[in-house]
Order: sequence, then C-alpha cells, then structure tokens
Amino acid sequence: MRVAVYCGSSVGKSEIYAEKAIELGNAIAQKGYGLVFGGSSYGLMGKVADAVLSQGGEVIGVMPKHLMSKEKVHSKLTKLYIVDSMHERKKKMVDLSDGFIAFPGGCGTLDEYFEAFTWAQIGLHAKPVILYNVNGFYDALILHFNKMIEEGFLREGQQSLLRVATTLDELFSLLEAQQGPIIRKSI
Ligand code: AMP
Repeated sequence: MRVAVYCGSSVGKSEIYAEKAIELGNAIAQKGYGLVFGGSSYGLMGKVADAVLSQGGEVIGVMPKHLMSKEKVHSKLTKLYIVDSMHERKKKMVDLSDGFIAFPGGCGTLDEYFEAFTWAQIGLHAKPVILYNVNGFYDALILHFNKMIEEGFLREGQQSLLRVATTLDELFSLLEAQQGPIIRKSI
C-alpha cells in the first residue's frame, strides 16, 4: 500500500506542523506503507519524506521538470518521476497511491486535495481522500463543507467522501476502511 501526502512546501509558523509531519512519516513507514509525494526537500514535504526514509521506508517523488530547482528535489528518494506538467504530477500521484492525506499546507496542497476529492466524486477512482486536521488547521474548511451540505451543493452520495481525521489512529482507520472497487477510467 502506498499513500500520497499533500502538504506545504513551507514548514508553517508553529513547530507543531513539523513535529506532526515527522510523526506522520514515522507512522507511514512503521505501518509498512510507501510514501508518494511531490518530491521536494523543502518544508513539510521534506519533513515527511525524511521521516519515512529514516525508518527505512519507500519514498516516491513526482516532480515537474520546471520545478526541479525551485522546489529542490529531495536527494534520497527511493524513486523519482520527472513529469512535464503540474497536471501530470497530480495524475501520476493519484495513479501511484492507494489513498491520499491532506496535511496542513497552502494553495498547492488544497489544489491537490480538491483534485483527488473531485476525481473520487465523479468516479474516476474509489480511494480514500482524508483531511488530516492537525492543530485545527482545517476547522474553517470543514465549516465550509458543512455550508456546502446545508446549501445543497454537496449532495448526499458525495458527503461520505469527506473523511476527516484528527489523530493518527483515525487517519489509519480511514485509510484501511473497506473501499469500493477501484474504477479505472482515463482521467
Ligand atoms: P503549497 O501547499 O502551496 O506549499 O504547495 C505544496 C505543493 O503543491 C508544492 O510542491 C507545489 O508545487 C504543489 N502544487 C502547487 N500547485 C499545484 C498544481 N496546480 N498541481 C500540482 N501540484 C501543485
């Protein structure tokens, strides 16, 4: 099993994000999962990858050619895929992974989370997409999801796709929960 982690290319202002990123990376490796991520050594991305590697785990990076120096490719990856575009990066990360975790991050993280979420919504995959709500970081987004439900923009069948974890135990239970068959369609 491989899991994609979407997270910030910055570390954030509070030390808790780096601490929790390291804890997540350690847990991924201890569970025997591989990590799929954007391939950068910067920010929380680098912290998660370093932690998985420190436990002897597999780390796969997917980096667009034009960002290789800007995002500084991690030098110790188990495998690096170099792709031509951001779209290809997201597609490759989805194809390589059995589940997705959105850890705190910025607009890039949200973009990746929503793409994985909306692809599940239209049946392009049936893999779990999980918001890991560390330090209440996603509280406001969860409120907005509630607003979308209240106002009728996230329909009943789609609401179960919203999976939120606040602890590592919850996170891994959601990842390991029985999923529907994986629907392989061209994205
Ligand atoms: P951020 O959360 O903004 O720090 O970005 C986290 C990661 O998401 C970085 O590696 C960005 O390159 C990546 N990213 C930003 N926009 C996109 C996009 N449109 N498609 C794929 N990855 C992206």
